[in-house]
Amino acid sequence: HAANRQLADQLRAERLSKGIQHFIGGEWVDAVSGQTFEANSPVDNAPLVTVARGDERDIDRAAQAAHDAFQEWRLLPGKERRAVLHRIADLIEKRSQEIAVLESLDTGQAIRFMKSAAARGAENFRFFADRAPAAQDGQSLPAPGFVNYSIRQPIGPVGVITPWNTPFMLSTWKIAPALAAGCTVVHKPAEWSPVSATLLAEIMDEAGLPKGVHNLVHGFGEDAGKSLTEHPLIKAVAFVGETTTGSHIMRQGADTLKRVHFELGGKNAVVVFDDADLDKALDAVVFMIYSLNGERCTSSSRVLIQEGIYDEFTARIAERAGNIRVGDPLDPATEVGPLVHPRHFEKVCSYFEKAREEGATIAVGGEKVGDTGNFVRPTLFTGARNDMQIAQEEIFGPVLTAIPFKDEAEALQLANGVRYGLAGYLWTSDVTRAHRFAQGMEAGMIWVNSENVRHLPTPFGGVKDSGIGRDGGDYSFEFYMETKNIAVSL
Ligand code: NAD
Repeated sequence: HAANRQLADQLRAERLSKGIQHFIGGEWVDAVSGQTFEANSPVDNAPLVTVARGDERDIDRAAQAAHDAFQEWRLLPGKERRAVLHRIADLIEKRSQEIAVLESLDTGQAIRFMKSAAARGAENFRFFADRAPAAQDGQSLPAPGFVNYSIRQPIGPVGVITPWNTPFMLSTWKIAPALAAGCTVVHKPAEWSPVSATLLAEIMDEAGLPKGVHNLVHGFGEDAGKSLTEHPLIKAVAFVGETTTGSHIMRQGADTLKRVHFELGGKNAVVVFDDADLDKALDAVVFMIYSLNGERCTSSSRVLIQEGIYDEFTARIAERAGNIRVGDPLDPATEVGPLVHPRHFEKVCSYFEKAREEGATIAVGGEKVGDTGNFVRPTLFTGARNDMQIAQEEIFGPVLTAIPFKDEAEALQLANGVRYGLAGYLWTSDVTRAHRFAQGMEAGMIWVNSENVRHLPTPFGGVKDSGIGRDGGDYSFEFYMETKNIAVSL
């Protein structure tokens, strides 16, 4: 803890005190308007760093730089792109402690999770680096009198817009495949946690990424973000964030016919049948809502429990939640840190009141911790019904809603009875039921007898209001590339 604190103080003094700028065409620059905004520390809401505030002029410069750089980057052999991407991964690994500390300071996420998030960032680059040489491969489709073959080509400069919850890891998940495919990038990170995007830009530059291939513009969604989605030189937008923002982006991108990829909100169910291994299920249920501050798109924020085990299982969750350590995110012992921003903190806290109004029981938590910063107690609502707001709306904090069910049919109805469909989790020892239920769940990803464990080649994404499109493995290349067919008459 002391070492983390010391590093944090040093980084604040040496780096953050200078403020952070855009990175456009290989240069660190202020906003054209000269304007800035403050990002605050979630621990005490005191100013953490002054950030360049971009608008359409900064986006235009960045899009132009990405367009110019695209002409060469797209033609670079995949093997050379692979080498650069591996160097980026090496540097992420080398600077992982710095990344983790800055990410914790900026987001309030506990450092114990941010170390592995930095490692995942490096892994994302390695994974797509190794696929870069074959990214453009197509297939051969012979026909009578013709040879048909297809190739894949990078779509062009792309916009990447990311949220505040785990910004470093999420950004690499989008930027690495875009670069591997041969696209150039303009990244607009979230205004509440802009710091680690600067580190990533620095690392990519140091790794030898050519100027203009990756550009970073800070700013608010309604100006910098909006301009990016409207810019004619930007061919596609990969967006991670709220469902309503996704709708805005679709509208904003309509005039320029943007290709969009959306990873949006969730209200993911974990379903626990009475024949499950309940000790393992308990560990997973607790982990999947109370890790990463519950500010995690795949968190299981609704637990559906078979009625015979409901009382005992919820009592065990409450006991575990009550023992979770809330505190300074830089302390390795901390499990839940402060929520990212006072506005988000107020939103999460409003559900404590809502739960009471709706007639649910607060089995544990349901309150703020301390007088400074955005700390809340890990919370469990019991006695909830699926039509309550606490069961329908994405709270995006360490807050779990428990609902009992009678049988498989009712469990499926409850699991599917929300507007979202990102992830689903299911615990049972009946293998036939596991498959049947998994196939019936309306979600893009289902884990059976497991918490969320990512395997990077598998498709990642949501259905219903949780998203459009898939990431991972070749699915990412489908988004960042165009397939072209060439027919040669014989
Ligand atoms: P948000 O939608 O408020 O903001 C996300 C980004 O979009 C920010 O960079 C913001 O500046 C930008 N933005 C806002 N308005 C815009 C506009 N009109 N045009 C262009 N850009 C705009 O989301 P958030 O609050 O930062 O993040 C939390 C949300 O993200 C949650 O709903 C969570 O579920 C979701 N999320 C989803 C996944 C996933 O993989 N499905 C992963 C992480 C987070």
